Amino acid sequence: MYSACLYCHGNLGRNEMLPNFEIGRRLAFDSKKGRLWVVCRHCARWNLSPLEQRWEAIEECERQFRRTRIRVSTANIGLVELRSGFTLIRIGNNFLFSGEWWIVVFPGTALATLILAVNLLGDWLRDALNPKLR
Ligand SMILES: [Zn+2]
Repeated sequence: MYSACLYCHGNLGRNEMLPNFEIGRRLAFDSKKGRLWVVCRHCARWNLSPLEQRWEAIEECERQFRRTRIRVSTANIGLVELRSGFTLIRIGNNFLFSGEWWIVVFPGTALATLILAVNLLGDWLRDALNPKLR
């Protein structure tokens, strides 16, 4: 595993949070696509980690991310700062299994209810206004 940025050759730093992946103070991961990046502190570019070293580290990142209560999430990205300034960025929107199920369930229920209401209104309008059914 490299310890310097591929773009600016700056030091990527080390962490003690991931025993199998000790490079980087800020990591970004996408557990759905199996990608792990080390974010450079100097130029802020993302360095994709080698394929053979990332799987256990991605699982550990996901565990650390779920374990932390204080986090910031939007529809596609989540941010967690762990102790000693180690930062995790989660890419992707697997809310159903991340403990944030309400982000999917409540809008989905509202959308299903709206579609059912429009369908019932259309049936009622057809029955009320169709001259052949009178
Ligand atoms: Zn860099």
